[in-house]
Amino acid sequence: MSSDQQPGSTRLLWIAGAVAAAMMAVCCMGVVVVSAGAGSGAAGVQQQAAGHKLRPDAPIPPQYLALVLQAGSICAEIGPAEIAAQLDLESSWNPDAYTDSGEVPAKGIAQFTDVTWRTWGGDHDKDGTNSPYDPGDAIIAQGRLMCDLVAWTTTQVAAGKLRGDILDLAWAAYFAGRGGVLAAGGVPPAGLAHDYPQQIRARLPKYAAADASAGPVGPGGWTLPLRPGTYRVGSGFGPRWGRLHAGVDLMATTGTPIYAAAAGVVLSAHCSSAYCDRPGSIGLGGCGWTVNINHGGGIITRYCHAIRLNVRAGQQVAAGQVVGWVGSTGNSSGPHLHFEVHRNAPPADNGNAVSPLDFLRSVGLNP
Ligand SMILES: [Zn+2]
Repeated sequence: MSSDQQPGSTRLLWIAGAVAAAMMAVCCMGVVVVSAGAGSGAAGVQQQAAGHKLRPDAPIPPQYLALVLQAGSICAEIGPAEIAAQLDLESSWNPDAYTDSGEVPAKGIAQFTDVTWRTWGGDHDKDGTNSPYDPGDAIIAQGRLMCDLVAWTTTQVAAGKLRGDILDLAWAAYFAGRGGVLAAGGVPPAGLAHDYPQQIRARLPKYAAADASAGPVGPGGWTLPLRPGTYRVGSGFGPRWGRLHAGVDLMATTGTPIYAAAAGVVLSAHCSSAYCDRPGSIGLGGCGWTVNINHGGGIITRYCHAIRLNVRAGQQVAAGQVVGWVGSTGNSSGPHLHFEVHRNAPPADNGNAVSPLDFLRSVGLNP
């Protein structure tokens, strides 16, 4: 580790503020979370650019990828790339990292102090362990804390108590505590807390994709489920191994965003295999993490094998909205999106599945 190691003197300076902030957060966590949602929905108030998706070659240890995607989907401002760059700085992805400053040790992949862990820690991955050394707990705690800090700094800037970039302020507060940032009126003018946001920004290009969105939406309101250029067509619709392959396989890198092909209502968003917490195999039945969307007019689309979903059953989605990220869960031997289109549905079954590529061409797209 380099200059991200925190000497005790620096941490000690800020501990009073950290304790105060922690106690405030204990009583007000729910309120803060609600206000974070309201803040990001209020157009014009939030000037911070949206968080960044991952670039396909982002050097994330594969066992942490799903956690980074999850932590990077809690609020709009903190994306997976922001989560990854901060973990890179804090611990170089070492889950056992221990920085013994002599006074306030920082522990684990996200370098939580005991005080901060008491507020933000928890068995977030529900594996029976509650520890800053458990990446399944620590990375999610990092995402929650960062989103709360973004909401908090937004409020403080609006109230004139802090000056500066929202994200820089939130990062500085992660390092130095809210009290430390408030005392300085912004990112501290010197020292490690001053350097911390810069150190994360320096690492962002390693992890962040160029800002991506869905491809164009055609006149019928349809768009491709993966952005053009992010996939190649694999196995097509039709008989395969004595059965109907009821969709098309679009080969893409793990973590590639999957978009709703048209506006609709999410019928289901669930794990349809025996397990979805790790890549599946050809011996495993089911579709893995699966989304079904009802577009009306008898048309249902299905998206299979995601590493993680971004929608819930009953939710309305717009064309081009991210519904999940490509993975290899369920009956799958490598990362891809299995995409189906059904007519005269519901229900959506093999009897009413149609060729997805033919369908997309019929609505004016070029899959
Ligand atoms: Zn398939």
